[in-house]
Order: sequence, then structure tokens, then C-alpha cells
Amino acid sequence: MTMTDCQHRITVLENEIKMRQDEIRELKCREDLLSMTFTTTCPACEGSREERYIDAAGDTDTRACSVCKGYGRIGPIKCKCGKVIDIDMIETRRQKYPKCPWCGELIRK
Ligand SMILES: [Zn+2]
Ligand SMILES: [Zn+2]
Repeated sequence: MTMTDCQHRITVLENEIKMRQDEIRELKCREDLLSMTFTTTCPACEGSREERYIDAAGDTDTRACSVCKGYGRIGPIKCKCGKVIDIDMIETRRQKYPKCPWCGELIRK
């Protein structure tokens, strides 16, 4: 094997690594999305995506539902720690920044 052969082979392998890394990144994104598949109509707003609330002036107004964050649907959310925030954990989901009750990590969505 000549030096040029070596260099060529290194370039090929490096490109291969880069391609695999891109592939992994894409798969991780997809995994995230799949773990967030919202399968159930939100029990708080019944799919209307909105909730009524009393604003500072005492008027009734509507805003994006705080349980489903305006998606209208919810599904189990898998935390980094491996535990699942199930669909019946309404109070956890209602928080502005929901945290995993097991490990305290912020939950996305
Ligand atoms: Zn809702
Ligand atoms: Zn957790």
C-alpha cells in the first residue's frame, strides 16, 4: 500500500463516518418525534386546544390549553431517565415547565 493509497483510504473512511453520524442524528430526531406521538384526545380541553381562564381584569378569556399546550392531543412522553409520563398525569402536564416526577428533568412539550 502506497502513501497515497493510505490517504485515499483515510478520506473514504472519514466520509463514511460522517455519513453514519448524519444518519444517527436523523434517526435520533425521528426517535424523538415517535416518542412524542400524541395518540389521545386531551382530556382537559377535549381536543378543542383551548382552555378558559379568568384574566387579571376578571374577564373570562381563552388561551392554549395548558395540558396539551394547544395540540389538542396528548400521548405518553418518555423521559431521558426511561420513565414514561403517562397520559393520565394531568397535573404534571399542566405545569408551565413540566418536570419528570422521577428524576426532575424538564420534559419537552
Ligand atoms: Zn388540551
Ligand atoms: Zn425522568
